[in-house]
Amino acid sequence: MNKEVNEGESKPFIYDYTLEQIQDWVKEHDEAAFRAGQIFDWLYVKRVVSFEEMTNLPASLRDKLNDSFRFVTLNEITKLNSKDGTVKFLFGLHDNHAIETVIMRHNYGNSVCVTTQVGCRVGCTFCASTLGGLKRDLTAGEIVAQVVQSQRVLDAEGQRVSSIVIMGTGEPFENYEATMTFLRLMIHPKGLNIGARHITVSTSGIVPNMIRFADEGTQINLAISIHAPNDTLRSKLMPVNRRFPFADVINACHYYIEKTGRRITFEYALIGGVNDRPEHAEELATVLQGMLCHVNLIPVNYVPERDYVRTPRDDIFEFQRILQKRNVNVTIRREQGHDIAAACGQLRAKHMETTTG
Ligand code: SAH
Ligand code: SF4
Repeated sequence: MNKEVNEGESKPFIYDYTLEQIQDWVKEHDEAAFRAGQIFDWLYVKRVVSFEEMTNLPASLRDKLNDSFRFVTLNEITKLNSKDGTVKFLFGLHDNHAIETVIMRHNYGNSVCVTTQVGCRVGCTFCASTLGGLKRDLTAGEIVAQVVQSQRVLDAEGQRVSSIVIMGTGEPFENYEATMTFLRLMIHPKGLNIGARHITVSTSGIVPNMIRFADEGTQINLAISIHAPNDTLRSKLMPVNRRFPFADVINACHYYIEKTGRRITFEYALIGGVNDRPEHAEELATVLQGMLCHVNLIPVNYVPERDYVRTPRDDIFEFQRILQKRNVNVTIRREQGHDIAAACGQLRAKHMETTTG
């Protein structure tokens, strides 16, 4: 590896920095305070792809920015367009890892699903993202860049990113600081200005950080991958449940609801014969009854490495009906982009197969 590359890799990404940090940087470099706002505007509102394009900055300042920061972070390896409008990217990082980002179309707008880690160490048995373990955390800027690059694609259609879900690869609450910096940047009124209520973070139940998140005082939504109605079954499907048991996860959910007044979402992937029987629905209803929550049933996506099968349609409806009868809010997830890729993590898995031989 040559010296230039080494130096390049030690520089932060400009998208790692909050507006306040850019303000500090500007001050340290003896530039006028208003320059920070201009830089932020070029990054998030005008969405240029290099410092050179920041034409209202003096050339000397652009040089300083170039010396201090990396700009482009994500190299588009693959971009797949589905008939239903879903766009799936495979992005390459500077160290040759690859991550997935998805743009989804809804009647209420466009949402982007972002990745927070290269791989995941949580080890849920139904999940393709965890098969190779955790390679590394993403920086805040690498998460931000996924949204900014998605917005650039939408710019061409005169549309905007109106919501974000942190439901790509990785466990956001095992990369908490970067995730929070990312979230603060997304809701910043001078940036992309995405409403906190239009952003959802999904976690497998890292209890201490669920509590921390509830205490942040934001209106950002929380989703919990619950996938089972009790400790024993959940531990089988999600080893993380041995670290943070079912009851503690549910208590942390109550705490979040109390602190924020917001409804919590439970994700429940239905796996044929494993967690999808009527008695599982009854047991789940008993836990969730009376709670300010919503259950999202997800027909499990096929993972070639596992022998899980999907729940038949009628049984999915039966599961839903049982929850409804007990007054638990429930919907079945609409699936998108079926023609371009299968489960989350599979585009990356395929890519790893071909690159690592
Ligand atoms: N790590 C976080 C966020 C990313 S996963 C979490 O686990 O919550 C987004 C959602 O997809 C989670 O609810 C996850 O459990 C679910 N998921 C993972 N693999 C799946 C599969 N094969 N079929 C259906 N849902 C799956
Ligand atoms: Fe990690 Fe979420 Fe997959 Fe579990 S479901 S392995 S926490 S990405």
